[in-house]
Amino acid sequence: MDQAATETFPEIREAVRKLCAGFPGEYWRAKDRDRAYPTEFVMALTEAGFLSVLIPETFGGSGLGLGAATAVLEEIHRSGCNGGACHAQMYTMGTVLKHGNEAQKQTYLPKIATGELRLQAFGVTEPGAGTDTTRISTFARREGDHYVVKGQKIWISRAEHSDLMVLLVRTAPRDEVAKPSDGMSVLLVDLRTAVGNGLTIRPIRTMLNHATTELFFDDLKVPVENLVGEEGKGFRYILDGMNAERILIAAECIGDAKFFIDRASAYAKEREVFGGAIGRNQGVQFPIARAHVQMSAAELMVRHAANLFDTGQACGTEANMGKMLASEASWFAADTCLQTHGGFGFAEDFDIERKFRETRLYQVAPISTNLILSHVGTHVLGMPKSF
Ligand SMILES: Cc1cc2nc3c(=O)[nH]c(=O)nc-3n(C[C@H](O)[C@H](O)[C@H](O)COP(=O)(O)OP(=O)(O)OC[C@H]3O[C@@H](n4cnc5c(N)ncnc54)[C@H](O)[C@@H]3O)c2cc1C
Repeated sequence: MDQAATETFPEIREAVRKLCAGFPGEYWRAKDRDRAYPTEFVMALTEAGFLSVLIPETFGGSGLGLGAATAVLEEIHRSGCNGGACHAQMYTMGTVLKHGNEAQKQTYLPKIATGELRLQAFGVTEPGAGTDTTRISTFARREGDHYVVKGQKIWISRAEHSDLMVLLVRTAPRDEVAKPSDGMSVLLVDLRTAVGNGLTIRPIRTMLNHATTELFFDDLKVPVENLVGEEGKGFRYILDGMNAERILIAAECIGDAKFFIDRASAYAKEREVFGGAIGRNQGVQFPIARAHVQMSAAELMVRHAANLFDTGQACGTEANMGKMLASEASWFAADTCLQTHGGFGFAEDFDIERKFRETRLYQVAPISTNLILSHVGTHVLGMPKSF
């Protein structure tokens, strides 16, 4: 199949493929077994400049759009690698870029562009709130020139491998504000000084290698100058960043789907049972073809969402729809690929069971499928809300 004819950003894709070739299955298997952070891979991506594509040139990045960033992440995933260890270094800075003041931009963005500072932790989810973000209870109380933060977060990925974290807190109680989404604020937390001084990070071992953690805040002091934007308006800033995150993660799903489709179709052509290639049997061939059809449709929606984002248009619905379609396409492709490989699909050395576990995440995080359907059902189709 001639991929190049329809590929966006072919030079970027080619360069990413070359880099990823240096990180084969053995590398990821070893990291997966030990639940270890892929530091060498992240360093290589940083040095090649792939993690700073979204940072404007004035701050030392490449000044490209989300379309370029989706090409990077899709190729990482198609190559059998995983961008989850560092994808947030690409987009979390968007909160500072869009809503930070000039001093914050000058202080942080050039260092994030070089990788000297890692801003790849994003602290929103709480055990007591779940998807209902307006019910977060981590509270930042103003005391002179500091906020004092108390509370708990869960599933905060890469916190142990990040210098800074974008943290969503309440600065006014939910029942004392006009709208539930008012009274939340964004703080930039310096994790290098916070840990041991009011912040405890506890890793959570999960079914995939994702460096995710629980955070406990016990009177952590954060300087007032680290408030991003206006106090009380933080929910809106976080929503802005979520669209970028959903589109980029959808691109990772497209890459995963392509990985599974490549592997499944190659194996179906080569594996002979009952005197011929298994792929001649339509029971084997059609699910792989269906996976390709689903992935191709999802890819168009993801590209459409990225175009809307890059041209400054509203893209919340398309970002959600792209993420849902892509995560379902990658999961169907994963299941089909595993089935096509028979027993070998379960063998660690084939990397399929690892990628199968990895791609399952995306129907839950960063937003679960039901919540996307609820958005479409109520905001797009005008049906009543259940909550
Ligand atoms: C590996 C991993 C990494 C993560 N990384 C981060 C991170 O870096 N930063 C961060 O802030 N968060 C992170 N998350 C959290 C992630 O965004 C949430 O897990 C996700 O949004 C789902 O929220 P929840 O787990 O609280 O599920 P809940 O809100 O408890 O929902 C549980 C289930 O119920 C369904 N449900 C809930 N309400 C409704 C409803 N009204 N109608 C229909 N169905 C409903 C949901 O769809 C879901 O399937 C991560 C999660 C994981 C697993």
